[in-house]
Amino acid sequence: MIYDTLVVGSGSAGNILASRLTEDSTRQLLLLEAGPDYASTDALPADIRLGYGTTSGIIAESHDWGYTGVASLLRDDMPIPRGKLVGGSSAVNAQIFLRGIPEDFAAWTEMGNDRWSFEQVLPYYCKLENDHDFGSEAFHGSDGPIGVRRYPEEEWGPDQRAWAKACRQAGFPECPDANSPGSTGIGPYPLNNIAGVRQSTAVTYLAAARNRPNLHVMADCTTRRLLLENGRAVGVEVECNGMVDMLYAEETVLCAGAIGTPQILMLSGIGPAPHLQEVGITVIHHLPGVGGNLRDHPTVNLSWNLMYRPTDLFHWHQAGLRFTATDSHLYNDMIVYVGAGPGYAGGSVDHLFVRPTLNLAVGNGELRLRTDSIGDQPRLNYRYFEEQFDRERQREAIRLCTELIEEHPAFRGICGGVLDGPGDALQDDQALDRWMLANADTGHHSSSTCKMGQPSDPMAVADQTGRVYGIEGLRIVDASLMPDSVRANINATVMMIAEKIAAEMAGGY
Ligand SMILES: Cc1cc2nc3c(=O)[nH]c(=O)nc-3n(C[C@H](O)[C@H](O)[C@H](O)COP(=O)(O)OP(=O)(O)OC[C@H]3O[C@@H](n4cnc5c(N)ncnc54)[C@H](O)[C@@H]3O)c2cc1C
Repeated sequence: MIYDTLVVGSGSAGNILASRLTEDSTRQLLLLEAGPDYASTDALPADIRLGYGTTSGIIAESHDWGYTGVASLLRDDMPIPRGKLVGGSSAVNAQIFLRGIPEDFAAWTEMGNDRWSFEQVLPYYCKLENDHDFGSEAFHGSDGPIGVRRYPEEEWGPDQRAWAKACRQAGFPECPDANSPGSTGIGPYPLNNIAGVRQSTAVTYLAAARNRPNLHVMADCTTRRLLLENGRAVGVEVECNGMVDMLYAEETVLCAGAIGTPQILMLSGIGPAPHLQEVGITVIHHLPGVGGNLRDHPTVNLSWNLMYRPTDLFHWHQAGLRFTATDSHLYNDMIVYVGAGPGYAGGSVDHLFVRPTLNLAVGNGELRLRTDSIGDQPRLNYRYFEEQFDRERQREAIRLCTELIEEHPAFRGICGGVLDGPGDALQDDQALDRWMLANADTGHHSSSTCKMGQPSDPMAVADQTGRVYGIEGLRIVDASLMPDSVRANINATVMMIAEKIAAEMAGGY
């Protein structure tokens, strides 16, 4: 059979694309996923169904690709969790549901993406959400598949209340809706978790479309490479239960994420020619941008002994702070996550954790293959904090958080001695930089490894509707397509991208 559309990867983007495109009952679509499928929300294991399961160590190994990456010049052993199941990373993430800000899309437009202004993307952010708190506002949606809510302050844990009090007294403005354009400061995080259940694209979009006869889902099926004939993608080579097979389609869409998508392209001979030759892959099409421009939100982990027992496993991310670093030209370029965590490093110490994070880094990294096999992890080099501007802003955030936690009276009775932190290095810029580089960590928001842009941009891999330059019948729709990161956790933006390109594809684009 030749399908009309073949979608590789059933994560945040893939499930949205599959569900929207099969609204047209004449389109036969095959959705391929390397990980397992659970046919209903009730059948999901607890680490996937419930919102608390999010980082490595909590997500079951069978649901995680188990990547590792080089964080910085001084840290080379960083776990990079990525969801490996129907739902992808939307099924394992922390559910903070923040949109990119208007300034992000002004930057995307300046980079040559004139179809991606804030005005053009806003309708798709609205279309995908059902905001239980602000759904009636003009810039929100109330009938999309993804449920979103904020914890009312009376339900916040003691750590969250203390954090908000300290931030308010430090002068940060009140932020009741962090998805309101122009907002900043301290307030409840919007979360795509309803009644404890993570609103992944599997339990929302895909669940509602599963019974369509024109939607075919094949799980436990790894895509090894694209099938290419005369400059055209005609399908994929897959491995399912130890058997290699070929599957064919008029159009193939890569939704395998910021790591999986460039990996599949390069294994198929599409990517930077010198690198492909290094690993013994025949070059089909030289596209230097594939695997370059690796973006993330670099962070560090600070933690203190917690002086009470957290009762609720999903006891974090209720209140959040965004602010602009001193003298930064980038509005809202910093974000801080705070939570009370049971146990510590696999042990028994309850802890307060704080993650001051660069919400828009200027540095970027690179993804490269180790071998010509899909079974070997790509090399991920994030190069966090190599840029002075990134280090300066991160230093300020570390100092601010340490001061608020250690000196504000709101934290008396909440936390005690330091478990992780720079200690005396806080007083000296160079020492703090060394600590920062040695403790750099992922913000879990890898993106931009196959960025869209104008054909005149040598690093652009695809056009503004995801069509891969130089190869017919092939698109990319996932986090890898983003030209740069956004000043927000990126899941809502990846879903918006899928909604927008699905609408364009349905319209024949
Ligand atoms: C631990 C964690 C916490 C996070 N927290 C948040 C948060 O709170 N808020 C937020 O906004 N964002 C968060 N994110 C980020 C966000 O979830 C991801 O950026 C987003 O889900 C990426 O969507 P995607 O469609 O690009 O890729 P994914 O959702 O990762 O989907 C890719 C899919 O492709 C499949 N795949 C890959 N390679 C192959 C192959 N060769 N063959 C077949 N299938 C393949 C994968 O198994 C996966 O199902 C978090 C991410 C993680 C990992």
